[in-house]
Amino acid sequence: MQVTCPVCGLPVDVPDDALSGEVIEHDCGTVLEVVRDEEGVRLRPLDDIKEDWGE
Ligand SMILES: [Zn+2]
Repeated sequence: MQVTCPVCGLPVDVPDDALSGEVIEHDCGTVLEVVRDEEGVRLRPLDDIKEDWGE
């Protein structure tokens, strides 16, 4: 399936069996996390939560 990249707005190829939490790197350089819910599949930039991990 194709999901719109929340950062650059271009379509991202997401495997139909992608699981929530799966990580996909988009051509624009953004690392996206798959979020699955009742409404379907969404993508969110992983950069948003990277700070939580610390270094
Ligand atoms: Zn993108």
